[in-house]
Amino acid sequence: MIGIIIITITSLILGIILVSIDNEDEILKHLPGLNCGVCGFGSCKGMKDAINKDKNNYLKCKPLRGKKKEELEKILNIK
Ligand code: SF4
Repeated sequence: MIGIIIITITSLILGIILVSIDNEDEILKHLPGLNCGVCGFGSCKGMKDAINKDKNNYLKCKPLRGKKKEELEKILNIK
């Protein structure tokens, strides 16, 4: 019985981690990828980390426009 509980809890934790990693990849995929630093976070990866702390940071990416911006807003549940 204890073994089943441990396996269930471990599976839940791994599932949460995998969903988190997948969402971070999605955020990075929808940034322009210019690594221009205009946002103030040094690179698009820096922006991804900043978005994880405050999702409104995406507004600091000036090259982000159009469809990519709309798709990122969907991922971040904005609007
Ligand atoms: S401003 Fe946008 S494109 Fe430039 S580094 Fe920041 S996130 Fe990347």
